Amino acid sequence: MNPSQAPTFSFEFSPPRSDAGERTLWDAIRRVEALAPDFVSVTYGAGGSSRDRTIDVTHRIATETTLRPVAHLTAVGHTVAELRQIIGRYADAGIRDVLALRGDPPGDPKGAWVPHPGGLRYASELVELIRDLGDFRVGVAAFPERHPRSASWAEDIRHFVAKCRAGADYAITQMFFDVEDYLRLRDRVTAAGCDTPIIPEIMPATDFRQIRRFAELSDARFPGALAARLEAASDSPADGHRIGVEYATVMAERLLSEGAPGLHYITLNRSTASVEIHQNIRHSFRSTHVLAAHG
Ligand code: FAD
Repeated sequence: MNPSQAPTFSFEFSPPRSDAGERTLWDAIRRVEALAPDFVSVTYGAGGSSRDRTIDVTHRIATETTLRPVAHLTAVGHTVAELRQIIGRYADAGIRDVLALRGDPPGDPKGAWVPHPGGLRYASELVELIRDLGDFRVGVAAFPERHPRSASWAEDIRHFVAKCRAGADYAITQMFFDVEDYLRLRDRVTAAGCDTPIIPEIMPATDFRQIRRFAELSDARFPGALAARLEAASDSPADGHRIGVEYATVMAERLLSEGAPGLHYITLNRSTASVEIHQNIRHSFRSTHVLAAHG
């Protein structure tokens, strides 16, 4: 990525679980659309109907909005034939952006990883499969606190770089709450000779219980001082919101000043906090659709 170009900004949504959830999601999508982000991504569910909903929502974004959708796709639980079919469905709908992931074991995300007998073992293989199937832009996952299954940083970086070299155009990080973790990851990847842009994910930490649960699931360290402030504000959603937006705004400003190639905001299908954070720092985004220029 050309460092002289303005950073990208993008938003992450998830497939809705109900009709009410579908309405909330589409309200958020429409609010975000007005900001003309570089792309929006849709997470891929752990199985069954939620996976179909990911495909439906991504199609709808591609056909009914001006947004550029990035479809998350996980290898877990799929045969290679099924993965080919899903990628083909995306291509038919004109979707050319896929975030290639391995996924976690269904049921217990921290349980033993068992590849599907007819499937893939690592995200790098999914990157290769997508590349073989056509002209896609492919993203991958990066972990500022290293992947919890990696035994060491050396191993983690070796596999991450191999995944990038398999054909990734960019990476998006797992949520994190300390900018130093992102900077250290980027330094390690650069030292290993890899210049794949790594876009930091911004999670607005507005609700103590929710963030603690997410942080536990993703193994992200949740800073004690932030946790204490949010816990003290547990009875006031407005205070929690203000604290989370302030914290994420400071993180986002620092990340951009350190040359991060973009920001990817988690919305939890409610755009309010992420849109506020973006509005606080919008002077940093001189142009839009920068990723498209690299595509
Ligand atoms: P991989 O890159 O395959 O890595 C998994 C582990 O295997 C790592 O420890 C790695 O070091 C190791 N490894 C890799 N290659 C090799 C090799 N050749 N030999 C030995 N070890 C190796 N999950 C979902 O279910 N749906 C989503 O939509 C989703 N979206 C995500 C979006 C982002 C931005 C991120 C960061 C994660 C997302 N996840 C999602 C979670 C992700 O699926 C899990 O974190 C998963 O555990 C790791 O996926 P990966 O693609 O990084 O796997």
